[in-house]
Amino acid sequence: MDPVHALERLADLGAYGVNFHDDDLIPFGSDDASRARIIERWKKGLADTGLAVTTATTNLFTHPVFKDGGFTANDRDVRRFALRKVMRNIDLAAELGAEVYVCWGGREGAESGAAKDVATALDRYREAFNLLGEFVHDRGYDLRFAIEPKPNEPRGDILLPTIGHALAFIETLDRSENVGVNPEVGHEEMAGMNAAHGYAQALWHGKLFHIDLNGQHGPRYDQDLRFGAGNARGAFWVVDALETGGYDGPVHFDFKTPRTEDEDGVWVAAAACMTNYLVLRDKVRAFRADPEVQD
Ligand code: MG
Ligand code: MG
Repeated sequence: MDPVHALERLADLGAYGVNFHDDDLIPFGSDDASRARIIERWKKGLADTGLAVTTATTNLFTHPVFKDGGFTANDRDVRRFALRKVMRNIDLAAELGAEVYVCWGGREGAESGAAKDVATALDRYREAFNLLGEFVHDRGYDLRFAIEPKPNEPRGDILLPTIGHALAFIETLDRSENVGVNPEVGHEEMAGMNAAHGYAQALWHGKLFHIDLNGQHGPRYDQDLRFGAGNARGAFWVVDALETGGYDGPVHFDFKTPRTEDEDGVWVAAAACMTNYLVLRDKVRAFRADPEVQD
């Protein structure tokens, strides 16, 4: 879908902002002139619609060069390329005013026990975040990192599989105060976790920098349903954790429309995410205001 068209339709729905993967906006391998043209058109689209860029992220998982990961790839050249790709997009993210830089290490993992030395991989993962932390600091950007945990898919096992693993890892970083988490509801439920408890603990640590809300039917493939679909009771408690826990970042949805939908269905589903959040927020407020509950 044309990114500017997406901006226009999201503005029609009343959305506050957008985020983007570098490759979604600028096709992989674009030359500098094409890249500049695409960015100028995107900026005009943002100005015309009034949408903010809240967040940006790097695609380190689609191109075959990343088949063994980005920051933790066993091939040093791939690790260096991954860092360069992230730094280039961080410059763009800062230019567009993003305050959070999301890192989902979808290919940082392995399918077999001997394919990746976990301790070495974590050393490399840490080295990458330490270097990126210095980069952001040296540039003077007001940008924080948010790690997005996921237990598996596309890798058989992904490093930093849950919120808890990510929080422990973050504490080992040089600039740990600048790194938090971006938990996705479905990813936590894939791991059999209680997503609301994870969000609440991340808030308790002061580490809930961003959120990916969506729906999931328990442990199976990553369904990325609209928010409120799947585990509706779990969605209520997620909203309760956010609203009562003082989360003040963007209310952000990371979902996919069913492939059977046409374009109109895409926007119906996007609006449904927003509506479902507001419905659940009303119910959370009513629940917390209920004298019997308070008693
Ligand atoms: Mg996500
Ligand atoms: Mg997902």
